[in-house]
Amino acid sequence: MNDLQDLYQQVIIDHNHNPRNFKEIEQASHVAKGHNPLCGDKIDIYIIIKDNLITDVGFTGSGCAISKASSSLMTEALIGKSIDEADHLFEKVHDMLTKGKADIEGIGKLAVLSGVHKFPARVKCAILPWRTLKNALENKDQIAVTE
Ligand code: ZN
Repeated sequence: MNDLQDLYQQVIIDHNHNPRNFKEIEQASHVAKGHNPLCGDKIDIYIIIKDNLITDVGFTGSGCAISKASSSLMTEALIGKSIDEADHLFEKVHDMLTKGKADIEGIGKLAVLSGVHKFPARVKCAILPWRTLKNALENKDQIAVTE
């Protein structure tokens, strides 16, 4: 294991133990639920969008370290972004996780999730909050399921 992987792992452990924006937002304008039956991760996402800008994001639920860290990192990355920017970020993270593409330019701290690509079972955990985000942004009622 090299130093970079070590650092990445530390960030994931930190976000798992101290998740950022772990809160329900009662006045959320967009909400969605996500479920990964393979691992048992369940996540609810709450978003406040004002004038096409994401002003606040929170999540609640329970899951493994990867799903929690991914949710936590996602909420941090989204606050202050426009819907278009959030969509763009979704595509980049999705490609990084599913194809292992190294186009991590501009994704900042989310790069720590790049190593997850090597563990197919964990990819679904990492992608769950992002799928759920997509549903929330599109106001879809159904539960986002990763399988
Ligand atoms: Zn999981």
